[in-house]
Amino acid sequence: MSVWAVLAAAGSGARLGAEQPKAFVRLGELPMLAESLGRLEASDWIDQIVVAVPPGWEEPAILLAEEIGCGKCSASVTGGVTRAASVRLALAEVPDDAAVVLVHDAARPLLPEQVIERVLTALNEGWDGAVPALPIADTVKRVEADRVVETLDRTELVTVQTPQAFLADVLRRAIAGGEGTDCASLVERAGGRVKAVPGDPRLLKVTTRADLELVASWL
Ligand code: C5P
Repeated sequence: MSVWAVLAAAGSGARLGAEQPKAFVRLGELPMLAESLGRLEASDWIDQIVVAVPPGWEEPAILLAEEIGCGKCSASVTGGVTRAASVRLALAEVPDDAAVVLVHDAARPLLPEQVIERVLTALNEGWDGAVPALPIADTVKRVEADRVVETLDRTELVTVQTPQAFLADVLRRAIAGGEGTDCASLVERAGGRVKAVPGDPRLLKVTTRADLELVASWL
């Protein structure tokens, strides 16, 4: 069973306020992208990697992969306007005989091997997809124009992260025309069965400078 990783790294990272796109902002000694590339390279579960980057960053991404010895990184493609478009464009580089695709955000650089194992194990159990999920500590309310209109039952709610794993054909069909903030939402909408497995707080998504400093302190 061949497992391909799609690394979504084509976001601008406007909220970080850096000169370069988020995936190329420095984390430790190297651009942030190097951390997830290195971890996917080192993973026993992953065979090949395709990365989607902003226009003009295709070559720097390949050079970075070479610099860190990431031989599994077989293509660097120009991403799209939305995350779903970037994943769709990267997926076009994944061969038809790939059985499973693992989609990961470069903005979550600290990718634990155990989480890769958890989402892929769920596919072996017969699920169409799997997402890492975390319970919610705060009370969650729905608000309309400043007025609280509902308090949700947090025992039923989780926040989800990446890496998200899918049977390749299920993901290809689901992502063909859809938009969503994650890939699992498209698979769910298409009727796919997605399992929630335990996530990891270290998979924090870097959005602000403070996030970047926090993740850097965990390196
Ligand atoms: O913008 P946000 O941080 O939510 O993006 C999540 C991930 O999706 C990031 O790793 C980002 O690089 C990626 N992305 C992308 N193409 C876009 C927008 C975001 O690959 N057009």
